[in-house]
Amino acid sequence: MRIGVPKEIKSHEYRVGLVPGSVREIIHHGHEVVIETGAGAYCGFKDETYRALGAKIVFSAEEVFDQAEMIVKVKEPQPSETAMLREEQILFTYLHLAPDPVQTAGLVQSKCIAIAYETVTETQGGLPLLRPMSEVAGRMSIQVGAHALEKCSGGSGVLLGGVPGVEAARVVILGGGVVGANAARMAVGLESRVTIIDKSLLRLEQLDREFGPRLNTVYATMESIEHYVTHADLVIGAVLVPGATSPRLVTAEMIRSMRPGSVLVDVAIDQGGCFETSKPTTHNSPTYVIDEIVHYCVANMPSGVARTSTLALNNATLPFVLEIANKGYRQALLENIHLLNGLNVCFGEVTCEPVAKNLGYHF
Ligand code: NAD
Repeated sequence: MRIGVPKEIKSHEYRVGLVPGSVREIIHHGHEVVIETGAGAYCGFKDETYRALGAKIVFSAEEVFDQAEMIVKVKEPQPSETAMLREEQILFTYLHLAPDPVQTAGLVQSKCIAIAYETVTETQGGLPLLRPMSEVAGRMSIQVGAHALEKCSGGSGVLLGGVPGVEAARVVILGGGVVGANAARMAVGLESRVTIIDKSLLRLEQLDREFGPRLNTVYATMESIEHYVTHADLVIGAVLVPGATSPRLVTAEMIRSMRPGSVLVDVAIDQGGCFETSKPTTHNSPTYVIDEIVHYCVANMPSGVARTSTLALNNATLPFVLEIANKGYRQALLENIHLLNGLNVCFGEVTCEPVAKNLGYHF
């Protein structure tokens, strides 16, 4: 199969669909790879590297879409890309179609086979192609929070780990899923005083077993959230109610009661955010201050560490890319229910129930 990788064109998107290591595996399995010039440049992957592995470098997205049987990307296709898709061409990327009627209509019209990373499943019940980005965002949240706490960023001037004789910062993490656990790992590693709050007792029990006494686990109630948030130096928002907008767990009043210069990092901003004062920001201008509290609300955090994110994403996507290429999409989808769960649009039909229901398509 010939697999194509265009350069990402969505603003502030620095990742790339395939890293050189994946290209090597794909070519080793007898397939061809066509890559748009400069597609990996933001991640430090040069055209020469791809070329040396046997990939063909082309000079426009049109050539990639024209030559490839399967397009592998990171972000949802932009209108100019959707217009280039053709019948039976496979598209494998993040799509997030439910809130996006225009993109969905474009994919339906193209009659392509669109498989969305975010709805591919796994036996244990998780979403294996979303998890790596939550791991990245969770770990990054403590890094950006530590920076925001510095005076020059408008923060209170507190060092997360303290020093001998001066107490460490209090870090509170709302939601103990993938983002929350990865944030906890970083915050504990920096020797701050870490509390994780979740409404799932089972999850708290797992975290308690994993971290032992280095992590304080607390059941989520309005009272516990108010108590811990108002005494925190850094709060990470990491809750998720699948398929719904994030619950606004922290009120503006609680935020006003925090010490000036304290920091909120709302990772859940991509689902609306869990602080009342949250609004989406970008990597160009990631923070703003309300009531003397620094807010960081970047909706695509992984793109800020594009190289790590791309490598992590490829570790998860490569087995599926190979399965589709080796078996052909029909056989691969028939044999693998988890890949089939990723199928969102097929020959002009919406095949993902929540997307169809949300946008009024027949299912
Ligand atoms: P997850 O499902 O693994 O974890 C969510 C946790 O929130 C669960 O443990 C759940 O019990 C808990 N929760 C739900 N409602 C709660 C409530 N009312 N009170 C307390 N806890 C509650 O999800 P995840 O992968 O960790 O993702 C968390 C959020 O981060 C999602 O919104 C996800 O889209 C977002 N995210 C954002 C970025 C970014 O760049 N900003 C990147 C990756 C993920």
